Amino acid sequence: MEHTDSCGTCGGDGLIANAFGSHTKCPSCHGGGRRAEDTGFRDVTKTKPSHHQGNNRVAAAEKQTWPSTSAGAEIATKIKESLTLTADVKAKLTREIIEHESTHGLCTQTFLKKMRKHVR
Ligand SMILES: [Zn+2]
Repeated sequence: MEHTDSCGTCGGDGLIANAFGSHTKCPSCHGGGRRAEDTGFRDVTKTKPSHHQGNNRVAAAEKQTWPSTSAGAEIATKIKESLTLTADVKAKLTREIIEHESTHGLCTQTFLKKMRKHVR
């Protein structure tokens, strides 16, 4: 039973024996039993959308529905409270903010300016 995508460190069961004789979560696959992506962990959310790794940081990023920076949340609130935008547009703009944050790590001034135009 040799699976090519099993984790090489723990053999695929997600656990390794530690120095105290008990078992601990494998550090290579974080308990998932799967070999890490050959290029590392970048873009795991995009390339592997649904498998369960026991790493809930990935799941949280996928299910994020609100910006994580204060600048992003502020503009998203204005969009949400806008009386002129439709629900569809609001959802799309909020999504755009979240995506922008995940790409840049924050909301750039240029981006915020562009977003503010929608709620003026
Ligand atoms: Zn492992």
